[in-house]
Amino acid sequence: MRQFPLPLIPGPVRVPAEVLAAREQDYPSPDVEPEFFELYARVQGQLQAIMGTAHAPAIALGEAMVVLWGAMKSVIAPGDRVLAISTGLFGEGFADMARGLGAEVCLVEFGDDEAADVNRIEDEVRRFRPRIVTAVHCETPSGVLNPVAEIGATLDRYDVELYLVDAVASIGGAPLLTDDARIDLCLLGSQKVLATPPDLGIVAVSPRAWAAIERRDYAGYDALLPFKSALAKGSFPYTHSWHAVAGMEAACRLLLDEGLDQSYARHERVAARCRARGRELGLELFPRDERAAAPTVTAFRVPEAIDWVELNRRFRAGGLVVGGNYGRLAGKNFRLGHMGTQADEALVDAALDVIAVVLSDRPVSV
Ligand SMILES: *Cc1c(COP(=O)(O)O)cnc(C)c1O
Repeated sequence: MRQFPLPLIPGPVRVPAEVLAAREQDYPSPDVEPEFFELYARVQGQLQAIMGTAHAPAIALGEAMVVLWGAMKSVIAPGDRVLAISTGLFGEGFADMARGLGAEVCLVEFGDDEAADVNRIEDEVRRFRPRIVTAVHCETPSGVLNPVAEIGATLDRYDVELYLVDAVASIGGAPLLTDDARIDLCLLGSQKVLATPPDLGIVAVSPRAWAAIERRDYAGYDALLPFKSALAKGSFPYTHSWHAVAGMEAACRLLLDEGLDQSYARHERVAARCRARGRELGLELFPRDERAAAPTVTAFRVPEAIDWVELNRRFRAGGLVVGGNYGRLAGKNFRLGHMGTQADEALVDAALDVIAVVLSDRPVSV
């Protein structure tokens, strides 16, 4: 397999040696071993600290999408009123999922290149009276960070039962306290800031959300309900992965040893450097207002004079892999994922060096 010297894909990110080592050991079957349940409980505790919640999260086997679907299916019944806040592809995805589940959906759309506006959302919530509100913290395809805590602060005034937030690409790299932000279902993946392979989906569940999940009683591979009693019953809905959870423990330890505030500061510093150097090269930031830019991923507009496919070919020839885009953003912007292990000034500097050479139209040689 080809190794790119400069990995800047916005997830999955480079997995650190400590995580690989923890996963590499041979473990007995997790089904029957009390040690697995102890490990699982320890990792829940670490994740609670990282996510800022008093409630033990469910740790499901699967890529992050498993909890996006699982959380939606576990609480939404046909006819439910769901208000989906969208500043891009993931935000819109929740509206599509909710419609697919038979919900009555109000999509509150903002531009792909802007953050959600709390006042407009409050107006829409007042008018539509949703049971469930969905939002995305870091809208990764646009490099935008949304004010999900400020949105959460308004919801109690309007009897919103559940607030679901996709924080897959932000938690650990951008400050967010799940409980303080009034989030009932806070979704997290393993392959972004936490920098483990893409095989765990995590969801912090408030007591209000567990009550809704019990009422809905959805059964399926991605159902959350079995996780409520998994530890007490000593059984998971399927064979769990000791390797994945052991890797997650190592990843959480790295993050907690660094310190959350230190990690936020590192992400902010690297993102600011990435934006500043991009600007020096004449690149235009994708979010119109720099204050909306995420600390975990930077999106730049593809310069008009250059075709994205050719630009990407030249980046790769220089050893640099960045994120392209898909859907309506395909060819419009490209993204540097500086999250987790990739929130590294030297890495971002080396990436911008390649970009400088490519944009100057000189032959690339790295
Ligand atoms: C990465 C990511 C997910 C998980 O989706 P994949 O593209 O399948 O990895 C979900 N939400 C957000 C905001 C993400 O960045």
